[in-house]
Amino acid sequence: MESNCVPEDKSLEIASEEQMMELGKSLARELVDRGVTTVYLEGDLGAGKTTLCRGILRGLGYQGRVRSPTYTLMESYEIPDSYVYHFDLYRMIHAEELEFIGGRDYFVGGNLCLVEWPERGKGWLPPPEVEICIKVLSTKRQVELKWHQ
Ligand code: ADP
Ligand code: MG
Repeated sequence: MESNCVPEDKSLEIASEEQMMELGKSLARELVDRGVTTVYLEGDLGAGKTTLCRGILRGLGYQGRVRSPTYTLMESYEIPDSYVYHFDLYRMIHAEELEFIGGRDYFVGGNLCLVEWPERGKGWLPPPEVEICIKVLSTKRQVELKWHQ
């Protein structure tokens, strides 16, 4: 996985699941302010990608349950004035599966698409405006952010 990590603009050490949620909440505002559509989340299984997405959704005002889309490929959320599409491509075999679930309609301006395991969607996914890489350091996590805009 580390080979997929990009040189970071910002590197943060996150000590707990709660702190990862808090990072997501503060990141939510920045994503909206910068008009981001596509976020790539990279890192091993259990790194905290889904936890960070949960925090982002909370920060955007979504109060309900946030499930991991591991088996469904995508979960959608309606937030005030917009939509969030949370993908987990870990189990995807062909990137065209994104086409079958109507992916073209999701990756458009005004929506926010959070993509776990983006390497599985290579060749189909649009490039990200921000790439987040999470590395596991025992109980802590190193979160690296790279902006592409
Ligand atoms: P992923 O989506 O990357 O597979 P999850 O967010 O589903 O990962 O799971 C992360 C797991 O790691 C959770 O069980 C969480 O409690 C645990 N954890 C331990 N320390 C941290 C930390 N510092 N940040 C985030 N998660 C942590
Ligand atoms: Mg996950």
